[in-house]
Amino acid sequence: MSESDVIVVGGGNAALCAALAAAERGARVTLLERAPAEQRGGNSFVTAGAFRFPYGGADDIAKLVQDGALSRSGSVEIGRYTGDELLADLQRVTASRTDPDLARTLVSQAFPTMQWLHGKGVQFVLAYDRQAFLVDGRHRFWGGVVVKARGEGPELITTLYRAAQGARVAIQYGARATELRPQAGTLRWLVRATVNDASRDYLAPAVVLACGGFEANPEMRGAHLGPRWKQVKVRGTPHNTGDGIRMGLAAGARPFGDWGGCHAVAWDLNAPGLNEKRLSQTFERDSYPLGVCVNVRGERFVDEGADFRSFTYARHGQEIMRQPRQTAFQIFDQKVASLLKKPYTLPGTSRIDATSWAELAQKAGIEAHTLGRTMAEFNAAVNARPFDPAVKDGKAAAGITPPKSNWAQRLDAPPYLCFPVTCGITFTFGGLKITPCAEVVDAAGQKIRGLYACGELAAGLFYENYPGGSGLMAGAVFGRVAGYEAAASAGHGE
Ligand SMILES: Cc1cc2nc3c(=O)[nH]c(=O)nc-3n(C[C@H](O)[C@H](O)[C@H](O)COP(=O)(O)OP(=O)(O)OC[C@H]3O[C@@H](n4cnc5c(N)ncnc54)[C@H](O)[C@@H]3O)c2cc1C
Repeated sequence: MSESDVIVVGGGNAALCAALAAAERGARVTLLERAPAEQRGGNSFVTAGAFRFPYGGADDIAKLVQDGALSRSGSVEIGRYTGDELLADLQRVTASRTDPDLARTLVSQAFPTMQWLHGKGVQFVLAYDRQAFLVDGRHRFWGGVVVKARGEGPELITTLYRAAQGARVAIQYGARATELRPQAGTLRWLVRATVNDASRDYLAPAVVLACGGFEANPEMRGAHLGPRWKQVKVRGTPHNTGDGIRMGLAAGARPFGDWGGCHAVAWDLNAPGLNEKRLSQTFERDSYPLGVCVNVRGERFVDEGADFRSFTYARHGQEIMRQPRQTAFQIFDQKVASLLKKPYTLPGTSRIDATSWAELAQKAGIEAHTLGRTMAEFNAAVNARPFDPAVKDGKAAAGITPPKSNWAQRLDAPPYLCFPVTCGITFTFGGLKITPCAEVVDAAGQKIRGLYACGELAAGLFYENYPGGSGLMAGAVFGRVAGYEAAASAGHGE
């Protein structure tokens, strides 16, 4: 039996923020990470480290980033991104279903939390490679995200673990929490975990559940997302199998959020089923706004330019899931080849090169006649506006179904590059109901004493879709809040 003030279940970004915040208030913290040490960090480890937060301009970014370019006005254009814009983006992509109280907390706490992370040692850099295009010699940032953790997910997680060790958080690797219940006759929770095949009990007055969604659990995916999702490729950790959600529900928590929804992207057709080898974003294929997507019948099925990639990529996987054989083909020509993101150029990428539509159809296994017609119709529908990838340029292919609303250029510069893709699931949206203070709520709307949740398993922010860079930000905001609140409930106030 091990006793502490706060038990944090999970070992990713949200868990580490909770542990650091609780320790900052003087609480004795135990962190249980299911993964062995060499696989620690959950999905957070494999991220690009991109954070979405409101900022007023270069002065705010300079508080987080030491980048000479910021002082050389003229070479970068980062603009600003207000709290109202972040709120509006959250509402727009979730069709106004985002929980207003959680959304407001995210918006108001995001920038202070970025500064807090910086204070814990996390270094940030401008996300040139993900969120900017070089236009007329200037790096133009787009889509509301300008910053990522230096060294991306791996360095973010290494830094947070280092800070947790420095704050004397007791970290137990290889510890899979399996049971959560109040200890009879006390005001404490008992967390039972399997550690190296043995059962161990942990006791504390406060518990923070931060152990991810159920994206790596085929049965739960099949039950909640639909039968097709049982077979989907998983982009992140194999350890997020919904344990925290199940334990929370068993303790009386109210299920909440979009249980049928998930974050899912275009992913290399030949990627492994589980991204176990920490290949990170190697298989990500999200430059589709620059080209055209077709299915095996040769038909387009989505408006590739409906919005910036940050606002469409997380639901793009679901569109592919609806296509025959859950397969699609992203097609580009030489005009945009240099604008494709780095993963498209890595060795092992599935790619077909062809100089004609007939050759491409034959090599890729696409219905040839329809592909030829689709591309001819598309090219004929493109308007004459100038192309600018850094703004919504209104360069559209209109009068066809579906239209392409921005960045539509004729595909007429062979050799054509074709990337076969399928759906890769990132994380699930359904989970537990929390208050803006990360307190877990029961079916009657009452707070469950001493129980907190954050990260992917705390539901209500994301429905059907998601604005890129919000997962790490929400995990950090509600993780920090959960840590402070858990420490306070264990008697360690400010
Ligand atoms: C390839 C990829 C790229 C991404 N890029 C970005 C990005 O750039 N920006 C962004 O905002 N989001 C990104 N995301 C989404 C982001 O990863 C998540 O939103 C965020 O990391 C969730 O953090 P978390 O702490 O809730 O979960 P995780 O980081 O997944 O952590 C969950 C932890 O719980 C542990 N665990 C699970 N079950 C148990 C158990 N029973 N007992 C103990 N521990 C358990 C796991 O081992 C893991 O350590 C990306 C995701 C992927 C897969």
